[in-house]
Amino acid sequence: MSVSTTTDIEAVKERNRALIQEALEVYPQKTAKRRAKHLNVHEEGKSDCGVKSNIKSIPGVMTIRGCAYAGSKGVVWGPIKDMIHISHGPVGCGQYSWAARRNYYIGTTGIDTFVTMQFTSDFQEKDIVFGGDKKLAKIMDEIEMLFPLNKGITVQSECPIGLIGDDIEAVSKAKSKEYGGKTIVPVRCEGFRGVSQSLGHHIANDAVRDWVFDKSEGKELQFEPGPYDVAIIGDYNIGGDAWSSRILLEEMGLRVIAQWSGDGSIAELEATPKAKLNVLHCYRSMNYISRHMEEKYGVPWCEYNFFGPTKIEESLRKIASYFDESIQQGAERVIEKYKALTDAAIAKYRPRLEGKTVMLYVGGLRPRHVIGAYEDLGMNVVGTGYEFGHNDDYQRTAQHYVKDGTLIYDDVTGYEFEKFVEKIQPDLVGSGIKEKYVFQKMGVPFRQMHSWDYSGPYHGYDGFAIFARDMDMAINSPVWKMAPTPWKKDDGDYLAIAAE
Ligand code: SF4
Repeated sequence: MSVSTTTDIEAVKERNRALIQEALEVYPQKTAKRRAKHLNVHEEGKSDCGVKSNIKSIPGVMTIRGCAYAGSKGVVWGPIKDMIHISHGPVGCGQYSWAARRNYYIGTTGIDTFVTMQFTSDFQEKDIVFGGDKKLAKIMDEIEMLFPLNKGITVQSECPIGLIGDDIEAVSKAKSKEYGGKTIVPVRCEGFRGVSQSLGHHIANDAVRDWVFDKSEGKELQFEPGPYDVAIIGDYNIGGDAWSSRILLEEMGLRVIAQWSGDGSIAELEATPKAKLNVLHCYRSMNYISRHMEEKYGVPWCEYNFFGPTKIEESLRKIASYFDESIQQGAERVIEKYKALTDAAIAKYRPRLEGKTVMLYVGGLRPRHVIGAYEDLGMNVVGTGYEFGHNDDYQRTAQHYVKDGTLIYDDVTGYEFEKFVEKIQPDLVGSGIKEKYVFQKMGVPFRQMHSWDYSGPYHGYDGFAIFARDMDMAINSPVWKMAPTPWKKDDGDYLAIAAE
């Protein structure tokens, strides 16, 4: 699909508007009215995408969202590697979220790091009837005995904890005192709170504020603060993303004193208020604590985007602008150093990907942040949407990322997404595990954009080369000729294709 002329763009807009109407037609009137507010065609020059967001999903349509517990345990707290995170409640929620996000870390699992292990209080009927506080206290004792090198515990509340009124704060305080002041964090992230995992992120941020920052004030520092100290906030180190990011910051002369929460530790959380600048990757999940640190400790924060060379360059210069000339020169040095690598990746993959179209549907920042990386490869993102975005995410998307005529879908339903893909016929869909096999069975190339499909990193210059290779591999794999999409079926000789 070409979007190069005004006539083309108007035709695309017209088609997308008709497509939205067609998708809405199958719903009952009330549902159609509600869903219509979440779907739109982006108009250039508008300050947001024109969709409503962060609103309760409609029962009966298939949403792809998670719950507040998933936002706290699965995203914010779970990757803090030297703490043990108890999934407090029945076993199911924890089992489902076990090690699902590929948050890489350095350490010896089960000895001093615990990210890929799953701890649950495994609530039974009697715990619901009589309360689970005693069980929680017992579990903490067992943890102290079995894993003496743990540096702290969090209690990640599942739905029943809030319903039966357990006092996890009292248990946490008592056990912290008993263990000589160990950090124990009760998190009220019961899944029923809010409309998606987004409120879980906020609650988790507030727990860092109340149970880590406030309690560690006055504690002796483990390091000497310096003029170039920064903290990486909101990088979950999926497939090593934070590592390929911090290397660039360090090479430009900054000192990374903390990274949250991928490969992060409790000592790093405690050190962060001493940073000179917080650099924020996932705005959605960590803006709350960044704002708090600015207000309470005077630490400024800036958003950055390390997907693709264009956005990396912009971001390195933006981060450097908070520091003196030595760091600004450092940023230029880093940009120059990696130019050959990115030029080579673009020379190799752009001819194979030029003009290919992509539809995205992901979480916190990726529905907008990866657009530049696709464009660096000559590709066009023709549709995008957030699972749990808020209005400020759609504003950033409209003002800095999407092109005129892009189809926007908030909290898209399973039906709508399939319909849009079937009609728009993109060359690639980037979304999550729940969508992957639906689209692959439709014969559409797919990449998981939450977990990088067991690949990565995708952040930083090193990550871009891997991103380019993976997108090429997904789109240009010969397998698609053997399993053509229904609209491309040509009754070809598949044995001949296989032999090519
Ligand atoms: S909504 Fe409640 S029961 Fe469901 S996964 Fe989340 S915490 Fe568990």
